Amino acid sequence: DFLVRRVISVERTHYPLTCLVLPGREMNVKLVYQTARFDARAMTRFLAQMQTLAEALLDRPNAPVAALSPLAEAERRQQILDWNETVEAYDRYEHFHRRFMRQAKQRPDAIAVVSGDERMSYGELDARSNQLSHYLRGAGVKPNTLVGIHMERSTDLLVGLLGILKAGGAYVPLDPRFPAERLAMMVEDSATPVILTQADLADNLDSRDAKRVCIDTDWAEIARCSRQITDIDGHPENLAYTIFTSGSTGRPKGVQIPHRALTNLLLTFERRVGFGVDDVMLAVTTLSFDIAGLELYLPLMVGGRVVLASAEDAADGDRLQTLLREEAATVMQATPATWRLLLTTGWTPNPGLRMWCGGEALPIDLAERLIAYGNVLWNVYGPTETTIWSSTVRILPDASPITVGLPIANTSFYVVDEAGQIAPVGVAGELWIGGDGLARGYSGKPEMTAERFVTARFGAVGQRCYRTGDIARRLEDGRVEVLGRLDQQIKLRGFRIELGEIEEAHAKVDGVLSNAVVLREDPARLVAYYVERAASALTPEVLRQALARTLPDYMVPALWMRLDAMPLNANGKIDRRALPAPDAANVAPMADYLPPQTELQQQLAAIWQEVLGLPRIGLGDNLLDLGADSIHLFQIAARSMRVGLAVNASTLLRHPTVAALAEVVGATATPARPIEAPSAGPSLAQFQRKRRRPAVMETAVAATAVAATLGNSD
Ligand code: AMP
Repeated sequence: DFLVRRVISVERTHYPLTCLVLPGREMNVKLVYQTARFDARAMTRFLAQMQTLAEALLDRPNAPVAALSPLAEAERRQQILDWNETVEAYDRYEHFHRRFMRQAKQRPDAIAVVSGDERMSYGELDARSNQLSHYLRGAGVKPNTLVGIHMERSTDLLVGLLGILKAGGAYVPLDPRFPAERLAMMVEDSATPVILTQADLADNLDSRDAKRVCIDTDWAEIARCSRQITDIDGHPENLAYTIFTSGSTGRPKGVQIPHRALTNLLLTFERRVGFGVDDVMLAVTTLSFDIAGLELYLPLMVGGRVVLASAEDAADGDRLQTLLREEAATVMQATPATWRLLLTTGWTPNPGLRMWCGGEALPIDLAERLIAYGNVLWNVYGPTETTIWSSTVRILPDASPITVGLPIANTSFYVVDEAGQIAPVGVAGELWIGGDGLARGYSGKPEMTAERFVTARFGAVGQRCYRTGDIARRLEDGRVEVLGRLDQQIKLRGFRIELGEIEEAHAKVDGVLSNAVVLREDPARLVAYYVERAASALTPEVLRQALARTLPDYMVPALWMRLDAMPLNANGKIDRRALPAPDAANVAPMADYLPPQTELQQQLAAIWQEVLGLPRIGLGDNLLDLGADSIHLFQIAARSMRVGLAVNASTLLRHPTVAALAEVVGATATPARPIEAPSAGPSLAQFQRKRRRPAVMETAVAATAVAATLGNSD
């Protein structure tokens, strides 16, 4: 041994870690470390890595340093094999809709789906989806045929999804809330020959050559088809769905998911996370987010019940609370934003409710609040490209740090360094995922597919892996901690957004010379910066309207800042960190800014400013134009109530200026009525619809102004 290892631990040393290398006839390495920061196991492993590296240097003195791995064989095996021992046999032909059909035979009268006042039994859902599947086959749907689904949330949505899958086809969610131009891109890129829709939505869609089937107005014809079906065999590699996600090149990209991947996920959740015949799932997620698949299919596969929350319910903490209670939900899956929304309304988890949280990092304070009453909470992690979730972990008290756990069945995780080698435990690298959850690739984009779906040189020979772009590290026990992103992909209230796509959309607007979009925190919102060409007369409102034509609401920035020049770094690239934060100093006076006068108006304006993170709000500024979303509404309501002002979300929607609100609040006796009847005023859906329309800016925007304009909504 040329290297004598020695680890010395001490409680009190000035540095967290000191490494002494003492050359001589044999080289001595001594580590001195603070025991509060490191443990003996990590230090011993670190020394072993140094030894491995030193030996490799001697063996291959001419190799580039990056090509040498510090991992000793034992650690390599642990990382590649032991922590990925996830192989579990399953029937790849056990597609969820086949199991659903068996459930329908066993319990035809049990309620399968609830949506508002509608209830549909297993028998009815089965029969109706059989009829639709015969009809769709007649319209040319075969295995791997993509069928667009452009429908609101109702029991019919499940008839539609099951009908498509039973016909052998795969569905493409075409969200009714997306702008027409975006939907047209998705229809074009996926080349769907058939689109399933409903009469009042059909006109929103430029469906080109696709045949439209209206599930409501065409039902009389569909109902002529048989209520029975016998042949539903499908190959596990056939497509189940294609879901579009934000694309950095300026166009959304379609992720193609085969049945095998969906089946593996559903069976894992049934077995490991647990969902049974007596369970009731409150489904809150829009179909265009892949995780909706778990909420809708897992209950139907096992004979349980799915309760569909409408988009309005899902954006309204009070309504969600009521639904959870009235429908006696036992499981809900949601992003951290929705869990926070619920807590903002004063909700405490219903006894026995199991919570699945995913889609973005689970903050520890949120986790602690959710488990404070003894409820079961799972943190679930995974990209669309590896099918819904790729890892799960139950969060127990004192869970710090929050991890995403270990991979699910038939799934492998690798933390890979820049040289494409496995990173040592504790060292950050990119998370690569292999196994049965992998998508086929991106629809019609072979180059993009080849870039992200790669063949890994470690692990099972030639294993195909998806490079997630997530920065992660392994903990001592193998669990994976997600630390951030390698690229410009962000999450805003659970929505996956490529900032590059928003920047591309800006770049297409006449007069924009350069631009950058960043996510700012407190409050979380998108801020766009732009430099305009001389004499282009661009205003934030012009930009907002242009973007709203192709981007969903949640991708339209809340604020724009005009700059004279973009800050650049040494490489001539935009220096994002040097972009100024919007604050009072860089807001130029708006022409008709009316300062709040009375004490009440000032109090209200201060709350709005704080919640929306805006430096100043005038009497006439419309909340709907200030980038407020449903979470902001609830935060404003909660803070107002705290100081004894009778404000709730629907009051805000009906009186969206400080002036108007002060009038009604002033007239109401305190303490406030906590909840008004939801039917009394404009609903959140109307609020969201209104926000999609170009807003009339009441205020002129002065040059160099930070202008608050319409922003995101969930
Ligand atoms: P999506 O494709 O919309 O499901 O987004 C996937 C991305 O969301 C992942 O690559 C992560 O960056 C992030 N993500 C999802 N779930 C989690 C989680 N539980 N913890 C941390 N990040 C998450």
